[in-house]
Amino acid sequence: MSSIIPRTAWGARPAKSRTSIGRVDGVAAHWEGGPAGLYTPEQSAGLVRGIQNFHMDRRGWSDIAYSFLVSRHGQIYEGRGLGARSAANGSNDANANWYAVCLMLGEGDPFPEAAKRGARDAIDYLRRNGAGRQVEPHSTFFNTACPGAGIRSWVRIGMPSPEVPLPPPIWIPIGDVDVQLSKVGLQVPLDSKGNGWRWFDVPFERVFSWGSLGSNPPRDKTYFPGTPHAQQDGGRTLVSVTDGAPSGSCLVFLTVAQ
Ligand SMILES: [Zn+2]
Repeated sequence: MSSIIPRTAWGARPAKSRTSIGRVDGVAAHWEGGPAGLYTPEQSAGLVRGIQNFHMDRRGWSDIAYSFLVSRHGQIYEGRGLGARSAANGSNDANANWYAVCLMLGEGDPFPEAAKRGARDAIDYLRRNGAGRQVEPHSTFFNTACPGAGIRSWVRIGMPSPEVPLPPPIWIPIGDVDVQLSKVGLQVPLDSKGNGWRWFDVPFERVFSWGSLGSNPPRDKTYFPGTPHAQQDGGRTLVSVTDGAPSGSCLVFLTVAQ
């Protein structure tokens, strides 16, 4: 994993105060919100200092609000760090029981694979150090657009990155042969009536089942509503969604035989 850049290495100001975090249920995922642009790896530390200055001088907080920050290049910066309560999550409960990891990206910025890997690494590091397994977008706790649609979907599908394949295949017996099944997530863009479709380049015969994330998990249903369908389309499968969010998208899971 990427090594963590400690406060001393990015030139952090000392915190005015620090409160210990108690039971840690998991990690809340954030973004910076405003477009961060295509900054270089050398510029990242200056951006982190700017965020800390903004939080301390303008917001009046004791320190940078986040537990850790991840640049678009996957660099991991120590914010408040391990064991400290965050100020980023929007409620006392969420700050008291959840770490906060901020992706230094905003509206319209690409979400590079390196950033996904860095965020995964930061979250795995927190888990190894006592955080619970859950990861939630900031918007679960507070009425906010943070962390944006792209990061929110990525969190919802289990934060895949090149080193962390989505789900492991499972083997099930069908008759007297074992069949290897994999799960695939497809994001289906929806029109203004909440309907949409896309092709999946696998024959329909190999698709065992499908469903939408809209009903599972129960939180945050609004982001992936819709009724998924799958049908034969030549040598491919046509995946469609009805009754979804107008101009939104629906994440459809297919279980596919290899
Ligand atoms: Zn946030």
